[in-house]
Amino acid sequence: MTVLPCLHLDGYPSYGGSMSAENFPEFRLGKVLATSFTGTLSERYGNAVERIPVPSRLVDWLAVSGLMVDSCTESQLDHARELRESIHAAATAAASQTPPPFSAVQVINAFSTGGLASAILTPEGGREWRLSFASVEDALSVVAADAISIVARERDGKIALCASPTCRAAFFDTSRSRSRRWCDMNTCGNRDKKARFRANKRKGSNPAG
Ligand SMILES: [Zn+2]
Repeated sequence: MTVLPCLHLDGYPSYGGSMSAENFPEFRLGKVLATSFTGTLSERYGNAVERIPVPSRLVDWLAVSGLMVDSCTESQLDHARELRESIHAAATAAASQTPPPFSAVQVINAFSTGGLASAILTPEGGREWRLSFASVEDALSVVAADAISIVARERDGKIALCASPTCRAAFFDTSRSRSRRWCDMNTCGNRDKKARFRANKRKGSNPAG
């Protein structure tokens, strides 16, 4: 069977069904499940990069996030993206201390209640999720609940938006000073550092006066 990607985004590359896994954009994984999930689409206001372009990549992302599912259909991927953008909208509102858009609240709640998962304490004292039916819906209910816990300010940290104007990704700042500016130091932070370095160099090479 040929798996065709959903093309929702302008500038998103099209391709056939023969693409192998190593050609897909890498995941950017953070410590917070909900913002790692919103990070599967990056550069939302620039050249957007879709990191879950096909259902199998959502399965992969869920697996590396501790949520193993049996399978994923094209329509489940569409739903997952709907949840992702609703979390992004709610997080964006939370970053400016405004209530989340009503439509985002509805979608997040529908996903939170639309699956079954249980927290399991491991013998080592860690926490794992047990999905009732190993379905995408079960896994996304965990992601939605995680989003609720950060938007509702239940956790120690602050939702903020990346300072890069083409990125504006939501991230969860747990730094002591709550002054983190970038979604990721290795990407947006590094790009800014390089731009400032180049600007300083130009300034330095101009003769004074
Ligand atoms: Zn960023």
